Amino acid sequence: MLIDSHCHLDYLQRDGDIDEVVARAGRAGVGAMVTICTKMSEFPIVLEIAERYPNVFCSVGVHPHEAGEEGQETPDRLIELAQHPKVVGIGETGLDYYYEHSPREQQQISFRAHITAARETGLPLIVHARDADDDTVAILQDEYSKGAYPAVIHCFTAGPELAQASLDMGFYISLAGVVTFKNAESLRDTVRQVPLERLLVETDSPYLAPVPKRGKKNEPAFVVHTAEKLSEIKEVSNDLLIETTTANFKTLFSRAGAALDEPGFDAAS
Ligand SMILES: [Zn+2]
Ligand SMILES: [Zn+2]
Repeated sequence: MLIDSHCHLDYLQRDGDIDEVVARAGRAGVGAMVTICTKMSEFPIVLEIAERYPNVFCSVGVHPHEAGEEGQETPDRLIELAQHPKVVGIGETGLDYYYEHSPREQQQISFRAHITAARETGLPLIVHARDADDDTVAILQDEYSKGAYPAVIHCFTAGPELAQASLDMGFYISLAGVVTFKNAESLRDTVRQVPLERLLVETDSPYLAPVPKRGKKNEPAFVVHTAEKLSEIKEVSNDLLIETTTANFKTLFSRAGAALDEPGFDAAS
């Protein structure tokens, strides 16, 4: 089974019932998904979705876009909310200098608070990095020097330097539909350098639907197309790609991994 390591079911829910979205994912062979929190004020909605489906997990965190309004100066709230068994990661957090919806300094302060929360809880940090490779690497490394923490760079579109720095710290790289786009050749070159043992797959739905679903509203079921493309890029069978990325997911998102591996776990129940 495949796992969509990063989606936004709360956004999909704004357009209606998501029972069918989750059911379609199951029929497509997507056995589990993580719905990602972007605002503290919306964490209750995200958690409620995760509690509704046995194979849906969630994160807690504040997107860099929201750092101006809801950015965390300390890790306290994140650590407290991360105690819930359905919370399996910290984020999404990071730096976005492309849109720069929030002041850079506030993004950086909130990013560091999230890293501290990941270090303290042992839950993986979910990093969003857009047009901010240098500062992202600098902060990840500076914080790493204070103590290790697990992390994934989600919807990876950055250059080889951020990829290498992340691999050096033991982090994972998660690929979304962008990797299937015609003009993403340099991204595919970077992915060729990433060991299979460090790759995850995601949709980041409802955004960025992969080819051949481009232009449609993205949903977790479509992660199968990104996985197929990745198996081509990595020159391995689709089965091996699925098996390895799922094993990687369970290692990194260990709280979700433990739940999925529990005897008698049934996604459909
Ligand atoms: Zn993101
Ligand atoms: Zn996201």
